[in-house]
Amino acid sequence: MDTVGTAGFRGEVGSEQWAPAARVRDMGTSIFTEMTELARRTGAVNLGQGVPELPAPPALLQDVADAVRSGNNQYPPAAGFPALREAIAAHQLRRYGLDYAPTGEVLVTTGATEALAAALLALCDPGDEVIAFDPCYDAYAADARLAGARVVGVPLVLDGDGFVLDADALRAAVTPRTRVLLLNSPHNPTGKVFTPEELAAVADVCREHALTVVTDEVYEHLVFEDGARHVPIATLPGMRERTLIVSSAGKTFNVTGWKIGWVCGPAPLVAAVGSAKQFLTYASGTPYQEALARALGSVEEWAAGVRDTLRANRDVLSAGLAGAGLHPFRADAGYFLQADVRPWGYDSGIDFCRELPRRAGVVAIPTSAFYLTPGAPAWLVRFSICKREDSIRKAVEQLAAAR
Ligand SMILES: *Cc1c(COP(=O)(O)O)cnc(C)c1O
Repeated sequence: MDTVGTAGFRGEVGSEQWAPAARVRDMGTSIFTEMTELARRTGAVNLGQGVPELPAPPALLQDVADAVRSGNNQYPPAAGFPALREAIAAHQLRRYGLDYAPTGEVLVTTGATEALAAALLALCDPGDEVIAFDPCYDAYAADARLAGARVVGVPLVLDGDGFVLDADALRAAVTPRTRVLLLNSPHNPTGKVFTPEELAAVADVCREHALTVVTDEVYEHLVFEDGARHVPIATLPGMRERTLIVSSAGKTFNVTGWKIGWVCGPAPLVAAVGSAKQFLTYASGTPYQEALARALGSVEEWAAGVRDTLRANRDVLSAGLAGAGLHPFRADAGYFLQADVRPWGYDSGIDFCRELPRRAGVVAIPTSAFYLTPGAPAWLVRFSICKREDSIRKAVEQLAAAR
C-alpha cells in the first residue's frame, strides 16, 4: 500500500498559524509516492508498489456487475453482508479447522487496512506497546501511533538466503506495557513464511505474557512451495482465544481496489474491533461483499493459478537479479522478494532505487522504508512480482544490460 502522505504541511490557513495534529505530524510523503512518481516520469518498469497487474476472476467481476445492477447498493449490516460472513467462516473451517460463528466472531472491514487500524484502536490504550517483526508493513507503526501506542520492532535475522525469527530477541522485547503482538505470515516485505517451529516459539511468548495476537494473513493463499501450507497461529494450542485473524480479498483475487477485508476471532475481541470500525467506515462495498461471498467458496481453484504465476515470476526475477550480479534472497510466498544491492557498489538501497530507473529502467523500493529499528541493513531492496510476465522479463533484460 501507499502511504497517502498527508501531514508534511504546516503554515498559515487564513490568518491563523496551522499545524496538523501530533498523531499525523511527520507521517509525510513516503518513499512509495516518490518511487511511483519516478516510475511514471521515466516510464520504468514498476516493480515498486505491490499493485497487481494480474487479472481477477471473470465470474467475480460479472457477479459484482450483476449485484450493482440489481440494486444492492445501500449500507450492508455493519458486521458485513451475512452471506460473506458465512463464506468466511466456512473458509476458515474448511482450510484450517478453525470454527468461527458467522454472527459475532466474523467482521467484514474496509480492507485489511481498516481491520488492522480498528484492531489496534480497540486493543491499545495510550502508552501501550505493540510488537512487530522488523521489517514490517508500514501501516503497523502508523496504526499504533493513531491508537497512542508505540510499536516495538523485533528484527528478523538474515541467515543464509532467508530471514529467521530470533526468539530471544522477541522475549527481550516484551515489557509490562506490551499488549499486542502483530504477526504477518506470509510476510511483506520479505516473502518469508514463518516455520512451524517459529510459530510455536511466538505462541509460547504470547501465552506466557497474555498477549493478544493480531495476525495479518492477507497472503494466506499465496504460499508457493509445494506441500507447504499457510498455518494460522490461531490453530496452535491455547491461541484461538487470544488471536484476531485479519485477511482480505485484495491480494487473493487481484482486486486491491475493492478493499474488502475481514477479522475472525473470539466474540469479545471481534466486538471491540467492531466498536472502533463502526465509527471509521460503519460499512462499505455491498456489491463487492455479495459477489465475494460466492467467490470465496471456490477460492482454492482460483488461488492455485495465481500461485503458479507468482512462483514463475519469482523464479524469473530471482534468476535475473542473480544474473545481473545482485544477490536475491529466498521468497516463499506473496508479492515480493528482497535483494542485496551491495554487489553493484551501493550501501544504500535508497540511492540504488533513486538511480535504478535511469540506470536500468526499473523501479523498486528500498527496504529501509519498512524497518522500525535503527541499524537495519540499508542495502536491502524490495522488488514486487505481482506483475505480468512480460513486465518481469523486461525488467530482467534491462537489469542484465545495466550490469
Ligand atoms: C496489502 C497489504 C495489506 C492491505 O490490505 P487491504 O485489504 O488492501 O487493505 C495489509 N497487510 C499487508 C501485509 C499487505 O501487504
